[in-house]
Amino acid sequence: MTTRVLIIEDEKPIREMLRFALERAGYAVDEAGDAAAATSLISRQRPDLMLVDWMLPEVSGVNLVRSLRRSEINRDIPVIMLTARGEEGGRVTGLEAGADDYMSKPVAIKELLARIRALLRRSRGFSKNETLQAGTIRLNIATHQVAIDGKSVHFRQTEYRLLKFFLQHPERVYSRGQLLDLVWGETVYVEERTVDVHILRLRKLLKPYGIDSMVQTVRGAGYRFSQSVGS
Ligand code: CA
Repeated sequence: MTTRVLIIEDEKPIREMLRFALERAGYAVDEAGDAAAATSLISRQRPDLMLVDWMLPEVSGVNLVRSLRRSEINRDIPVIMLTARGEEGGRVTGLEAGADDYMSKPVAIKELLARIRALLRRSRGFSKNETLQAGTIRLNIATHQVAIDGKSVHFRQTEYRLLKFFLQHPERVYSRGQLLDLVWGETVYVEERTVDVHILRLRKLLKPYGIDSMVQTVRGAGYRFSQSVGS
């Protein structure tokens, strides 16, 4: 699927230069010369990323970004703000308004393309459908990152896969043999008590956040991951 970038810039030569560079890099490009035109374009086709010039006639780029961030549907669109030389002081304001990144003009194309790629990677990594969630745990399938209480927690490969499996299959009891098949894979020979070792490690990772009891031992049956802490 082609990635759509919306350029919002009132100076036509700059807009055309950016369009040329982005299209060459394989992006589909839309252009708007002011905030009103941008808003109507966004409502028709949501861009994957926006380049927003700081100085626009009437509604400024900062105010445009600010209003987008208040919108439920458009608040996640990644934004790179462009500022003219000498407007660097506005950087903080731009980022506070909700821009994800910022570059000063004249824009170095190579750097801009690198920043676009980085931002797209970041925003895709955190899009909702790539995140599994239970209580205070958030697991990002794209980036393999786990956050608890908003803090990033380092998980080793096996504990990560175990947690991912549990988040995908909560409130059900799995025997050690089933977990070996489903998490480790049938082709791998591992002793059943290996499961216990990794369950223990998983609980240890959850313990500082008071949620280790989400991983429950079901006597004579196996393990269950439950949203309800404390049984
Ligand atoms: Ca401008």
